[in-house]
Amino acid sequence: MPHLPSINPATGEVVGEVPITPATEVQAAVDRARKAQPAWNDLGLDGRATVLKRAAAILNERAAAHGELITREMGKPLREGLAEARSLGESLAREVDEMVEALEPEVLEDGVGRSTVYHDPLGVVGAITPWNFPMSMPSWMVLPALVAGNSVILKPSEETPLCGQAYADALNEVLPAGVLTVVHGADDQGKALVQSNVDMIAFTGSREVGKHILRESSGTLKRVVLELGGKDPMIVLDDADIEKAATFAAFNSFRNCGQVCVSTERIFVLDSIADEFEAALSGLAAAMTVGNGLDDVDVGPMVNAGQRDHVLAQVDAAVASGAIVLTGGRGHHDNFVTPTVLTGVTEAMEIGHIETFGPVACVTRVSSDDEAVQRANDTHFGLGAVVFGGDEARTSAVARRLTAGMIGVNRGVGGVVGTPWVGARESGFGFHKSKDGHRQFTQTRVLTRSL
Ligand code: NAD
Repeated sequence: MPHLPSINPATGEVVGEVPITPATEVQAAVDRARKAQPAWNDLGLDGRATVLKRAAAILNERAAAHGELITREMGKPLREGLAEARSLGESLAREVDEMVEALEPEVLEDGVGRSTVYHDPLGVVGAITPWNFPMSMPSWMVLPALVAGNSVILKPSEETPLCGQAYADALNEVLPAGVLTVVHGADDQGKALVQSNVDMIAFTGSREVGKHILRESSGTLKRVVLELGGKDPMIVLDDADIEKAATFAAFNSFRNCGQVCVSTERIFVLDSIADEFEAALSGLAAAMTVGNGLDDVDVGPMVNAGQRDHVLAQVDAAVASGAIVLTGGRGHHDNFVTPTVLTGVTEAMEIGHIETFGPVACVTRVSSDDEAVQRANDTHFGLGAVVFGGDEARTSAVARRLTAGMIGVNRGVGGVVGTPWVGARESGFGFHKSKDGHRQFTQTRVLTRSL
């Protein structure tokens, strides 16, 4: 059987390998998962929750090893890899409790009848995941699907097969056989999973692949939930705390080497504070250390040469069209790209409207709140957006006009526990987390009697 090697983007070394699942065998894996599903469902909501919570101790025990694996497989600095790995075990019990609460049957009466609303499993869920959060993205899809009583086929990214496998291995130590299966490979295996008779595809990845999956799923109208890319804007109003705004911009443009779906990619700054903001952001970017994520660095390598070339080509094209490099730019070696700040970026440039997914912060000066809002919304994407400003009423007014799904005011986009992770426009189709997100892994059924 051919094998898929996993390459460390910092060193080029082979971290390990997994056997590739022939695309022609994906349907057979789905058939096996379908056979295992009824017994898993028969355990009931509380029974399944009890089983899954046992995986927390295993994930906690392995967090240090998993964190290092994340860094070696896709490059992010070790502290980020460890934080991702630790969160899996630490939050598992709370998340499972939230899911159970969302899926308990509800009884409603209107004086004439009594209805019970059930949230039943769909059957077999196919989860297709990206490489940028190679353990938490599988967890976001696998866990709610399993709590709901589905069996799951996980197809992790071909860039991070070892992380996907390690996450599934931890869960499989507590799960009955056949309930969670991993298929390895790239787009062919993903396509085979979409074309199989799974009842749902939960996908996180690029907008283009998301559109392909939606088209391919139309024949059977299987449930599809898509978490896609973004081109997140940040607006900096002229009464903002400039240092705080620049610190956030540096963090959120360069974290995970800019390879985060809600990375800050476009920054709209009011003219009167633009010089000061650009100087602060450039200073922070220039001070960042770049290198192997296992060393004590701020920014690791890009995940692969293809992604690196995409980012550098966007920067070059922007500069050729008049953008100015404030810091960074062309300088790179191997997969390491220097944190870059550009100013004078316009929507006509590719970097002004196509997802970069790399360590580049693009600044555009604007003359009013209206212009900032109009340009921030001038995108097909709509994942996150942030506004930094002083006056509460003004900042809230700007925030409420933004068309993204998640908006942060003087902070990042992530909502508090219990809120959905949701993209608007072409950044998402359905959503995750929250009661409503968990229920997307189920078929809602209403059973009614007369009173
Ligand atoms: P990608 O779309 O290239 O690949 C994602 C997964 O889909 C991989 O497992 C891949 O093998 C598989 N795949 C590729 N082609 C397929 C096809 N035709 N049919 C079925 N499966 C296919 O994305 P990526 O490069 O792995 O990840 C980066 C993207 O993910 C970025 O656009 C980023 O913004 C997005 N992302 C979004 C979120 C979110 O919450 N919205 C979170 C993380 C990443």
